[in-house]
Amino acid sequence: MSSERKKNKSTKDFWRSCGFLWPHRGIVIASFLCAVIVGASFVGGLSTMLPIINVLVKGDTVQAWVDRQILAGRLGVHLLQDDPRRVKITTIDQRAVRKHLSPAAEAGIPEDTELVLNAKGHQELEKEDSWAVLSNLADRNKTEADLLTRDGKQYHVRLLPVPWYYRLARGFASHLPTDPVWTIAAVFGILASMAVFGNVMKFWQEYLASKAAVLAINDIRRKLYDHVLHMPLGYFGLRGTSDVTSRLVQDTGGLMEGFRAVLGNAIQEPINLAFTLALALAVSWQLTLFVILFAPILFVLIKKFGKKMRRANRAALESSSTMLSQLEGTLIGIRVVKATAAERHERRRYNTIMREIVHQNLHMSRIDAMSSPIMESLTLILAGVIVIYASYLVLRKQTLEVSEFIMVMACLAGMADSLRKITKVSNALQKSNAAAQRIFETLGTPIERMRREQSLVENRVKLEPLGREIRFENLTFAYAGAPGNAVDGVTLTVPKGRSVAVVGRNGSGKTTLLALLPRFYDPQGGRITIDGVDIQDATLRSLRRQIAIVTQDSVIFPGTILENIAYGTNLNVIDRTRAMDAAKRAFAHDFILEKTGGYDAVLGEHGAQLSGGQKQRLCIARAIYRQTPILILDEATSQVDAESEHLIQQAIEQVMHERTTFVIAHRFSTILSADVIVVMERGRIVGQGKHEELLTKCAIYRQLYERQLPVEAV
Ligand code: ADP
Repeated sequence: MSSERKKNKSTKDFWRSCGFLWPHRGIVIASFLCAVIVGASFVGGLSTMLPIINVLVKGDTVQAWVDRQILAGRLGVHLLQDDPRRVKITTIDQRAVRKHLSPAAEAGIPEDTELVLNAKGHQELEKEDSWAVLSNLADRNKTEADLLTRDGKQYHVRLLPVPWYYRLARGFASHLPTDPVWTIAAVFGILASMAVFGNVMKFWQEYLASKAAVLAINDIRRKLYDHVLHMPLGYFGLRGTSDVTSRLVQDTGGLMEGFRAVLGNAIQEPINLAFTLALALAVSWQLTLFVILFAPILFVLIKKFGKKMRRANRAALESSSTMLSQLEGTLIGIRVVKATAAERHERRRYNTIMREIVHQNLHMSRIDAMSSPIMESLTLILAGVIVIYASYLVLRKQTLEVSEFIMVMACLAGMADSLRKITKVSNALQKSNAAAQRIFETLGTPIERMRREQSLVENRVKLEPLGREIRFENLTFAYAGAPGNAVDGVTLTVPKGRSVAVVGRNGSGKTTLLALLPRFYDPQGGRITIDGVDIQDATLRSLRRQIAIVTQDSVIFPGTILENIAYGTNLNVIDRTRAMDAAKRAFAHDFILEKTGGYDAVLGEHGAQLSGGQKQRLCIARAIYRQTPILILDEATSQVDAESEHLIQQAIEQVMHERTTFVIAHRFSTILSADVIVVMERGRIVGQGKHEELLTKCAIYRQLYERQLPVEAV
């Protein structure tokens, strides 16, 4: 009991994830029914062994064998099964006696009595004679009989009615040939058709199980992706995008294997096990129960392996995600790696991680590989003990027929096979539990639209489009785990329609300050208001709909140029003229027309066909297309050719005067054309005003300007 509970606990997350199978329960049930049919036909096939053994070993016929079972039931006795020439009562069925269903006992026939056909029967009977007796006595129309025993006594007995299943079996057996070779051929024919039928069902079982698993994983991937999209930026900063990718791809894949295992073998094998067990119990319950005594040993071992496997697998998954992010980092920054001749350093770093992965993979493989041999050896020992006990039953106690023993052994082999497959399932479950755990961890990360937003503040405000001003009030923000504030007590008022150039050294907090406006992060102190409404009280959607952002790294999505410009809008309602207009104003129209396909040219991953400058202009066009009242621009400084530089500059200066714009400015001309310049240093605003004003008042601005001059002079 308690070990069962612990087992559930260790695969807790996996079972929890099975909730995703619920919407596909119809398929699961169908697959389960197929599994039952497969199990039944498997056992059906197995049980044909009994007549085959009887025919082959003893020269019996199926008809005589069935008749013998019927007669035993009608008399309430056990009949000798081993010699087809004799009809001999070995013991009285005590259970039947207790239920008053033993006419033989009522008539006073003693145990160990051989029945004969007539007075001549003192001689040795032929097989056919005994079959005739059996057939006569098994006939349902005969309700009483005079039985003559070998020692010359005669008993008058009534015969119990023949139960329906025996009548059925008898009717069926009467169609089988009596010739032994033909009998075996016929039985094999039945066996073969059962096997074919069973295999067709097995196909459906596996196919439906896989289908349910694939559909459920599809649901999880969608849900997970949706969740990931709404997670705060801070999460990605902390974990890196490759960790999230690995959860989306690798972990869900791992979970799918788990689903497949559960819906496949984990359903099929226990069903097979139950069927074979039932058959074995029916044939000899003593022998079967004896075997079941050994089952707990197997159970304990399965549990032990499961635990080891789970630990090893989690470690392996984690280091493979480290490797992924390492690779991604290096390949993205390959220019830097080459430029700084850091290949050797990178290789060493990579080697260290790879060594760890190899170590963990080998550890996992060892546990995996050990599991089967140990289980098999154990099964072998089990079999040995059973054979000894069985020989005791057959040879000493004589309560077990040899044919029955062979049958039970066949059942046990089937059960051992099922058990072996179940241990594999248990390993697969542990593996995918680690995956499920990481998936739930991700699903459990709070998303941006925090509870606070939905429940605590009852009246979420839908922000109206910016009408008067944006105010930053004593704003303070620190990154989780960072020692100081990235933004420190910033106060700033920006009237509608103004453009603000934010300047400052690297790391002075410009990006962070502007990331607080669309609520990529929430400040620890102070607030931002739009027309007097705290943006924390507004719905994220209404806030972000007002803001267009052009980031430094020009992000291009897979799709056509048109789709990239109109990104985020429904593909069916893209306004082509509006997109072209935006492209013209971003000075992107001309180069777009030069591409084959023009606006419908398909861009590959990261827009590899475009130059850096073209990508930037496309991103500016995207921001213009959105027609938002607020624009945040992070002026890129690298990867731009002179011509693009000029065009980008023109585009930026143009849009700066149409919207309320914040520019993280690096170019002098951008700075000059802004309505107000804000100088930042260590998260604080240290100067604010026009160019000339700042040159005289603000030392830091002067320094920045002086460094900028030579560039402008070129
Ligand atoms: P700027 O845009 O002026 O170059 P940032 O706003 O990017 O400056 O950075 C301000 C400070 O915050 C810097 O000290 C930087 O190291 C730190 N910082 C930036 N991003 C993160 C982050 N995701 N996690 C922790 N610290 C960060």
